[in-house]
Parts: sequence; structure tokens; C-alpha cells
Amino acid sequence: MKLKNEWPKYYKKDVVTHYCPGCGHGIVHRLIAELLEEMDLGKKTIGVNPAGCAVLAYKYFDFDMIESAHGRGTALATGIKRTRPDLFVLSYQGDGDLSAIGTAETIHSASRGELFTLVFINNAVYGMTGGQMAPTSVIGQKTTTSPLGRNPKYDGHPLHITDIIATFPGVAYAERTAVNSPKAIRKTKKALKKAFQTQLDESGYSVVEILSPCPTNWKMNTIDSCHWIDDVLAKEFPLGVLTDKRGGQ
Ligand code: SF4
Repeated sequence: MKLKNEWPKYYKKDVVTHYCPGCGHGIVHRLIAELLEEMDLGKKTIGVNPAGCAVLAYKYFDFDMIESAHGRGTALATGIKRTRPDLFVLSYQGDGDLSAIGTAETIHSASRGELFTLVFINNAVYGMTGGQMAPTSVIGQKTTTSPLGRNPKYDGHPLHITDIIATFPGVAYAERTAVNSPKAIRKTKKALKKAFQTQLDESGYSVVEILSPCPTNWKMNTIDSCHWIDDVLAKEFPLGVLTDKRGGQ
């Protein structure tokens, strides 16, 4: 469906972004706002925003949002969706929030097959707090807390939390995408639409993990950040559908 206006209805106008140049958050925000308009969901949506760079997401989205404590987004989304199953509920979280401090809530919400949708931004680093190593940082990745590169001997291996989520029977749809090229952005929008429809159909838990550039903490320019997703990050976290049990698939 074509948008009636160039500016998505559920994305606030004239608000100056706090995201860094080249950051993927703004792209994903726009995709969400476009879909809420196209699918006529904006008036019944409650979004949960996280601790991390997206802590101010409510400044941009023009629908109801609630701020979660660090890592607890999926617990909060569970409460909202169970209390008001008629609403459309999104939890928007980054990798530090979701796969470090929020691991327990994330895994258990998936094991219960909760009926909200999780939008998971994976940029392989703690963004807001200054570029520390995250559970998703890749082997050899230099961060402020792994200046010589992530060493699996001391730091362990990257955590593939969406792959774990996808193993639960109550998870109907899980896909990993990226936003580092126009083609990848179009695929991400399609994946988000499928996830949103999964919630509307009450088929089960739905999640889209999105590999997203963080030029600031990767210490790269925007173009190199986009290449790094293809050349490095997507090798560790391959793109594609992780599970699809919608409609008995
Ligand atoms: S630190 Fe990284 S994730 Fe955070 S706003 Fe800047 S580019 Fe985006």
C-alpha cells in the first residue's frame, strides 16, 4: 500500500534526531512507522522502549510508548499484551539491553510464546554507554572493554539469542535481516510486516533481529559500517528465516 503522505503518520515531524549519522535506528523507526500506517495499527499500538541508544524512541514515534527498566522490555510487553490482548504490542530493544541484562526475560517470554512482537536491533556493541563489548560482539572485535579484540578464551563466544528463541514451540516467526543497503531495508520491512501479521493472527511469538550499523562505536565511516555488516557481522549472524510456523508451517 502506498503511503498517503510522504512522512509516516506515526513518526513525529520536526523532531531533531539524537542518533548519530549513519545509525540504523532511525531507518528501523521509519519502517515501523510506515507499517503501522499501512496496516492501520497506530491507534491500537503500545510500544515498549529500552535502555540504550533507543531510550528516547518515544520522542520520534507518534503512538503510545512506555519506558522499560533496563532489559525488562519483554516482561513489560508480556504484561501489556496479557492485560489488553486487543492492543498491538511491540518491544523494541538493542543487543545490550535484550541479550545481556534482559536475557532471562527474553528467553522466558519466548518459551511462553507471548503474543507481542519483538524488534531486536543487533549492532554488536553497547552503544549508549560508550562502546563496550556486548554478548553479540564478534570474535576479534575491538571495543572499549576488549581493546585487543574479543578473545573467546576469556570473553566467550557471541550469543545467538534469536537462534535460541527460534527453538521454542511457541515462537511462530523469527527472522534475521539487516539495514545496510536499500535491498536489505526492503527485506527488513517485509520481515517486520510478517512479524506484525503473526501477532495479529495470534499465531505465536514473533521476532525480527536486525543487523544495524553503529559507525560511532565501530569507529568507521557510514559506508565502511555497511560493508562490515556484510563482510563480518552477517558471517557470524547469518541473515534469513530462523523459524516460520505461521499457519502450521
Ligand atoms: S552510538 Fe551507535 S547505536 Fe547509538 S546512536 Fe550512535 S550510531 Fe546509533
